[in-house]
Amino acid sequence: MPNSPVRLLIHGASGRMGRALLRLAAEHGDLRVVAGISRSGRTPPELSGLPMLPAAHMGEAPAFDLMLDFSLAEAFDSAVALCRSRSAGLVSGTTGLSATQKQALDTLAQQVPVLWSANFSAGVAVLSELVRQAAAALPEWDVDIVESHHVHKKDAPSGTALALGAAVERGGGRPPAYSSLRAGDIVGEHLVQFTGPGERLELTHRAGSRDIFARGALEAARRLAGRPPGSYRFAELLLGLA
Ligand code: NAD
Repeated sequence: MPNSPVRLLIHGASGRMGRALLRLAAEHGDLRVVAGISRSGRTPPELSGLPMLPAAHMGEAPAFDLMLDFSLAEAFDSAVALCRSRSAGLVSGTTGLSATQKQALDTLAQQVPVLWSANFSAGVAVLSELVRQAAAALPEWDVDIVESHHVHKKDAPSGTALALGAAVERGGGRPPAYSSLRAGDIVGEHLVQFTGPGERLELTHRAGSRDIFARGALEAARRLAGRPPGSYRFAELLLGLA
């Protein structure tokens, strides 16, 4: 970690995750939010005091070391472009990215430290490893991934569900079937179900609050700051999981 506070730019600052990040960033004396970017640039009342810029003027953002991006896939390319032009690192949790957008992350990682994760909770990082192990031990069993989220979520299946599916694949399991449920204000639930002859194994994670993702992302930012360019993984950087 550098000696002076890490200067953060929050992309998607007015959103559900952006607001949680701003509230919790204040708990870290070694992090300083320099500005927020949102689609309109309007400042929600509880964020007064924070300079907010509309996406169209994000090029005018003050100097920053790391961008924290929790926005939408449609806003992602300009976020990456700003990090590239400022040589600033990126911690991103935006989901629904295309293969081209994922490639852009790899290209950016040649220049600056980059960490993208579909999920910033410790529980899901561990779940992912358990899912890989279960798939390796039960390669013939059917696999279903059921995810539930609030009604405003744009992408389906969720980024986390797809990442859990990738863990099944890494373990050599059957290609999973995905189901998505959108209801009320569910923060995020993921069930990975392995079904064999006469028995069923269920592995579930339930997020009780968005704060767990925001805390994970802020901790990732603290640990990423000052590192050499490259692609970093949340599970490895925070939990030491290979
Ligand atoms: P939200 O809709 O509440 O907020 C989206 C934010 O992006 C807003 O600030 C909005 O102004 C901004 N935005 C929208 N279009 C924009 C544009 N064209 N240019 C710039 N900014 C733009 O969404 P949310 O619930 O906060 O989720 C944000 C993202 O984070 C989603 O992709 C969601 O799936 C993801 N997410 C990831 C994790 C994780 O742990 N990785 C956890 C929760 C949510």
